[in-house]
Amino acid sequence: MELYVHIPFCRKKCAYCDFASFAGREDDMEAYIQALLTEARMRYDGQCSVETVFIGGGTPSVLPPPLLEKLLSGLREIFSLQPGIEFTSEANPGTLTRTWLATARSFGVNRLSMGAQAAQESLLRMLGRIHTWKDVVSSFELARDCGFSNLSLDLMFGLPGQSVDMWEETLDKALELKPYHLSCYGLIPEEGTVLYRKLETAELSLPEEEEEREMYDKAVRTLSENGFEQYEISNFAKPGYACRHNLGYWRQVPYLGLGVSAASMLMEKNRDGYERTANTPDLTEYMHSIRETGSAVTERTYISPEEARFETLMLGLRTTQGVSEEAFRKMHGVELESYRGPELKRQEKLGNLMHVQGFWRLTRRGMDIQNSVLVDLMDQTD
Ligand code: SF4
Repeated sequence: MELYVHIPFCRKKCAYCDFASFAGREDDMEAYIQALLTEARMRYDGQCSVETVFIGGGTPSVLPPPLLEKLLSGLREIFSLQPGIEFTSEANPGTLTRTWLATARSFGVNRLSMGAQAAQESLLRMLGRIHTWKDVVSSFELARDCGFSNLSLDLMFGLPGQSVDMWEETLDKALELKPYHLSCYGLIPEEGTVLYRKLETAELSLPEEEEEREMYDKAVRTLSENGFEQYEISNFAKPGYACRHNLGYWRQVPYLGLGVSAASMLMEKNRDGYERTANTPDLTEYMHSIRETGSAVTERTYISPEEARFETLMLGLRTTQGVSEEAFRKMHGVELESYRGPELKRQEKLGNLMHVQGFWRLTRRGMDIQNSVLVDLMDQTD
């Protein structure tokens, strides 16, 4: 099982952010950590051990070190963690301190994922980030100094005002920091955000689609030339450093999510499918519900065996390794061939999929039109 813990506090809301994250709620931090630990005790039955932990947000690095210590020691007490576990925390430049890092390290956090986004101050300001690139560099140095070597950076492309040259500069500057892992996300403007409004009123405009594709291609090429393996559409790692937690999501390893808006996917007792749940996205309601009932689940969806089979296909095709026929058979008790054979072969003929040593994966062309390939495969399911 995987464990996700959501820390919803941020110094300031970024212009593009539609995650469950809140600025100015520092007074709620202590009660929130208490609620998280209560939820953990209520929901973990001790049946299976935890393979990976991911503390995300929000900005976990804004937690004062004593609260971080309370959270981490509580989690270690409640959960049975496997030896050699991957234990990640997200962190943001401009918030990291030596004491926070030392606390995280002493409780077993062994991987940090930092939101850097862009190397140009103009873009960082436009995104509403609280840090400069200089802060990214000094946070990296500080993290290394505190014993972290497994460091990851998040970068964004397809931003308003971003040229291909600027993106190239961001990639180069990120590579100078020698991270083990890079995530490169294309901007998706989300309704309700400041950035979305500015795009609607034409105060900002996005790069052309062709330019955005060039940025993505540049990332794939540059990172491969620098020894990174692309293991998913947006994720690149040095050999052996692919994020195990992310890979688990795409391989449908059951996960428990704690905190505001956190999602969980757990096997249904006495049924063949999964149950997917989501907690309330409202911070006050979350703490109140946990206090009163021990649960803050507001959404419950049963994923039938048929839906689970399609998810295996869809999630597997996000990864560069693809969908394993053997893993599919083990998980669902049917051959991938008999489930979607003709459709997969049709996509192979179109040059969108390839079949290599027991894996079905997207070709480079298929990656570009991934959504339409998936829609096509899905249409056949109905
Ligand atoms: S730091 Fe991350 S979670 Fe917080 S507001 Fe910015 S994008 Fe959202």
